[in-house]
Amino acid sequence: MYPEALRLLIEEFERLPGIGKKSAVRLAFHVMNMSDEKAERFVGAVENARAKVHLCPVCQNLTDGELCPVCASEKRDRSVICVTEGPKDIVAMEKTHEYNGLYHCLHGVISPMDNIGPEDIKLKELLSRLNEDVKEVILATNLTVEGEATAMYIAKLIKPLGVKATRIAHGIPVGGDIEFADEVTLARAIEGRREL
Ligand code: ZN
Repeated sequence: MYPEALRLLIEEFERLPGIGKKSAVRLAFHVMNMSDEKAERFVGAVENARAKVHLCPVCQNLTDGELCPVCASEKRDRSVICVTEGPKDIVAMEKTHEYNGLYHCLHGVISPMDNIGPEDIKLKELLSRLNEDVKEVILATNLTVEGEATAMYIAKLIKPLGVKATRIAHGIPVGGDIEFADEVTLARAIEGRREL
């Protein structure tokens, strides 16, 4: 139905999350209608982001610097680490302006059903950060079955090390995604955290 090269482009768009066949066709045609300059800028932005953005060696969040701005900042409270599933959760937390500690991005949760074990997420990187300066780890994984199980698993690991493990709860609906919580709810959730 479409020329081969166009069909391949449609297929690539279709692989993106949340893009169905119709949207993929629409996006591919949009790209075809772009000026050369716009198309180059689009491709350049993909390449540039891929080349420059990497994981912060400390917190594992995405950054284009040597360290991410949070880890590099002298103003952040280094006694608290907030553990999230993904980088987008950190963006949501930062938007609340209520949290001034550090972060750690797991890049996933433990999920035996999907064959994702503790070694498949950035957990040993978290454990390696727990020195005597760290007093509390806030477990801000999503309030899903996997998020809860992962929070409990990490709490069990870090409590013997003398680090307080707390869990955000208040206000976030069960099954809820941190990423989509509104700022006020999320700020309350951080404030209303309970010890595990
Ligand atoms: Zn960092």
